[in-house]
Amino acid sequence: MKKTKIIATHGPALSGEKDLLALYDAGVNVIRFNFSHARYDVVRETLEIMRKNNRNGRAALSMLLDTKWPEIRTWDLQTKQEYKTGDVFKFYTKAELFVEDGSALFCDYPHLWEDAFVDQIIDVDSGLFQVKVLEIESDFLKVEAQNGAIIGSRRHVNLPWVRLKMPGITDKDREDVKFAVDESMDFIAMSFVRSKANVDELRAYLKELWGEKIKIISKIENQEGIDNLSEIIEASDGIMVARGDLGIEVPIEKLPTYQAAMVEETLAAGKFTIIATHLLESMIENPFPTRAEVSDIYNSVMQRSDAIMLSGETAAWKYPIKSVDVMTATVQEAEANIDVQHRDFSQVWLTERDIEKKALIKSAIYAGEELWVKGIFIFTKSGKLARLASSFRPNISIYAFTMHLQSVAYMNVLYGVNPYLLEDWDDKFIENIYSAINICKSEWVLTVGDKIMLVNDIQKGDKEIPIVELMEIT
Ligand code: PEP
Repeated sequence: MKKTKIIATHGPALSGEKDLLALYDAGVNVIRFNFSHARYDVVRETLEIMRKNNRNGRAALSMLLDTKWPEIRTWDLQTKQEYKTGDVFKFYTKAELFVEDGSALFCDYPHLWEDAFVDQIIDVDSGLFQVKVLEIESDFLKVEAQNGAIIGSRRHVNLPWVRLKMPGITDKDREDVKFAVDESMDFIAMSFVRSKANVDELRAYLKELWGEKIKIISKIENQEGIDNLSEIIEASDGIMVARGDLGIEVPIEKLPTYQAAMVEETLAAGKFTIIATHLLESMIENPFPTRAEVSDIYNSVMQRSDAIMLSGETAAWKYPIKSVDVMTATVQEAEANIDVQHRDFSQVWLTERDIEKKALIKSAIYAGEELWVKGIFIFTKSGKLARLASSFRPNISIYAFTMHLQSVAYMNVLYGVNPYLLEDWDDKFIENIYSAINICKSEWVLTVGDKIMLVNDIQKGDKEIPIVELMEIT
């Protein structure tokens, strides 16, 4: 069993139920739908398959919607376009004027012609194609290719160091977020979060839609997001180190420093982290990873990120399942080498009761590690206690039991947490222990003679008292 969670992006490389189950069996915990590309009908159909398999116990896959805006992209092309160094062509900003003539591109950032300046370099396709601005017209920019490239549909466009005129949530995002609420999805990853205000706006909109249970993941993709990281962490449920855009928006050599700092600060606040993009990029085309990619996965696990994410590797091309196999094997290898003391984390944003429980969890982890128990058993309605336990990064596994499917889905992304639904949840708590033990016995996670640490509540009069207990399985 691995502790680091894997997120796989859905896309045309995957065909139906068979591939989804193969991803799950290979170690995927969360399926991400990238709404820069996704179509409602395809996503709806896929979610239906996931829900069916989650319900019947065949899988446990959580559902994540990744918003488009304010990411900037080129537009659909009938055929890929080839450029040579020195080619001059038009970069349109009005969709109605764009004609695919073999060289022109369209960019979906309407203010491109206002924000750009002559001699500026624009990065297309995550920096693989650089163009220099020669002239600025009201409907297009005349640009010159700085290198040769072949460009397909919907490639990223970045204008590093320009403070873009980014409005809040767009109509498309609103529609997509509403879709996520209607479909009871578990996470929304918000692109290009630059401040707490961005997150607050999404949270308020979710509340309006009665969708506030959906967890918000802020994608940090530019310098402004880095500068405002602390307030963004405070407002968010989790943070994604979105290295694709971030690697263009900041000097590339700073990326590893920022990654380490982001994971550290988020974890120290007791929130969850995802490291994304290019973890196995070469496996989009090749059946075998590069040495550097395997080391990147290993290092991400060593940094103790909750989750790592595959994008094009599972969405777009030839080896989606093989990519997950490589990732899982590398994660397991790295985790086998983690032998560090668990850690503590700050207590900001916790209630008095959470702080009490955190102290009890800490003592359960200390005692459990010393006594070589099989696991820490936690009972939680919202998943919050599992998050507290996970944030200590204990060497022993956490088994978390809840009455809500949505909490199971949330805990799916948390490091070291094995979530279970307790359908016969007992509000007086006692029966829950026996149900949990029976589930784990039936899955051969526990056998007679094993010891576990329990963190539970007991009912005393009208009060719930948190307790820690060492228990031997009989
Ligand atoms: C990224 O930029 O790393 C990322 C995950 O976002 P997207 O794939 O939407 O560009």
